[in-house]
Amino acid sequence: MRIGYGWDSHEFKAGIPLRIGGITLPHDKGLGGHSDGDVLLHALTDALLGAIAGPDIGSLFPPSDPQWKGADSAVFLREALKRVAVAGYELVNLDSVLILAAPKIGPHADAIRKRVAELCGIAADCVGIKAKTPEGIGTEGAAIASATVLLRSATSS
Ligand SMILES: [Zn+2]
Repeated sequence: MRIGYGWDSHEFKAGIPLRIGGITLPHDKGLGGHSDGDVLLHALTDALLGAIAGPDIGSLFPPSDPQWKGADSAVFLREALKRVAVAGYELVNLDSVLILAAPKIGPHADAIRKRVAELCGIAADCVGIKAKTPEGIGTEGAAIASATVLLRSATSS
């Protein structure tokens, strides 16, 4: 068995789509920076890579490389899952926390859970999506995500 942990943050910027967990949420701002700014998929990708002691997302997909500008972050997640399989492991379940002031994640949590489960090839009841508002930490201009994964050996049942 292996565990992995990932963390990420991106700043809100006006006029770009808000992508979280592989879906687009209705909001007047999106997350800038690396690729499509999908903070949850980035944290999850790093958790998977960390569980197999692999290189982190920034090493595999440097933000400075123009080919990743605006890229669908599902590409990064798929690469991490491929590396997990090559290392002889499979994903059992994942848990995550989003910290953002707006929009409210509650109405979208099921859609995010379903999409993340689909991307990861696991059941939706193996995907934890929790959201908090940034009480007293002064991060209203950003979205923060952390993710934890559990892997098991693909050869044992
Ligand atoms: Zn990121």
